[in-house]
This record gives sequence, C-alpha cells and structure tokens, in this order.
Amino acid sequence: MSYLLPSAEKQREFVRDVKQRGAPNITACYQCGKCTAGCPVAFEMDYPPNQVIRGVLLGMREAMLSSRTIWLCAACETCSTRCPQEVDPAAVMDALRRIAYAEGIRSPEQDVPLFHRIFLGTVKQFGRVFEAGMMGFYNVFSGHLTQDLLMAPKLLLKGKISLFPARNKHAKELKEMFAKAKELEAS
Ligand code: SF4
Ligand code: SF4
Repeated sequence: MSYLLPSAEKQREFVRDVKQRGAPNITACYQCGKCTAGCPVAFEMDYPPNQVIRGVLLGMREAMLSSRTIWLCAACETCSTRCPQEVDPAAVMDALRRIAYAEGIRSPEQDVPLFHRIFLGTVKQFGRVFEAGMMGFYNVFSGHLTQDLLMAPKLLLKGKISLFPARNKHAKELKEMFAKAKELEAS
C-alpha cells in the first residue's frame, strides 16, 4: 500500500500539538523498539507504540488519531519507563487521545471512551470511584448487559465492591478540580 506523506509543515504542526500536550521529547526517538517489546497490549494494537511515535513524527495525523492503539493503551507506562531516550510514549498516547477527543474523532473502540466517561462521572459525583454503579452503567450504555454479571455477587460477598457509593470528605474539592479542568480545557 502506498502512502503519500504530509507536507513538512503539517508534520511540524502535528509534532508541535503532541509536544504541547505533555510529550516534549518525542523527536528524540531513535526507533529502538523497546517500548513495543514491553507493551502488554501491543498484540492487539493496529500500530505498536514505536510506530505511533514514528507516525506522529511523519505527520500522519488522521491515521494516528483514528487508530485503535491510542484507545487500547492501558497507560501502564512500561514503555515510558524503558525508553532510553525519555520519549514517554505513554504521554504521547495520552496526548493523541486528548487531541482526538477534542477534534471529535470517533474512536474505533467505542467502549473505551465510554468507560472513561463513566469512570470519571462516578468520581465527579461521589468523590471516588463507585465500582458497582460504574459496572452497571457501563453494561447498560455499552449494550453488554450481562458482561461480568456473574462476578458481581462474588465481589459483593468478599466486600470488594459495595452496593452504595462510599463517602469522601474531599468530594467538594474534587468537584472544584473538575470545574477547573473544564475551564482549562475550554481555554
Ligand atoms: S523505546 Fe523510546 S526511543 Fe525506543 S522506539 Fe520507543 S519511544 Fe523510540
Ligand atoms: S503505556 Fe500504553 S503503550 Fe505504553 S506499554 Fe503501557 S499499554 Fe503499551
């Protein structure tokens, strides 16, 4: 398959966008592949981490922002810990997710952004994650109604999850943090 590379200006623009969102060392990558070798999710990705770094440097905006990789990344930071050049591929993935989200690019892994939204929604509402509620909302909104349903009674009996959200005395401060983040995002 042939691929026409974007102009030098578009390449620089994409690299600048990613650098500004927390990955200032991206241009130091020398393609050693250590990030990909240690990534626990690479086998599921359409572009492994080292190719994502290269893709950004080549200005392949559309391909990278609509890739499955950026949503499958588990943010475990193994790649960032192992990178000899301090490129921080995990931060690159995060930057790409944020750009894709801001630009309204539909994720090919729809359940992942849905999970993010539900997770953050419960943290915002209750001041900490409410696992049982999160599982319920996720199953309903994703349409996977019975996913992991059999695990719920075991988790409840072992006290790993609760039917009711726990109280967090810092809930008010957390709500303020969310408001501040929204303000920053808008600016
Ligand atoms: S480990 Fe670092 S230098 Fe090596 S390919 Fe990955 S990002 Fe590039
Ligand atoms: S942070 Fe993402 S890309 Fe890096 S090793 Fe973990 S799952 Fe892979």
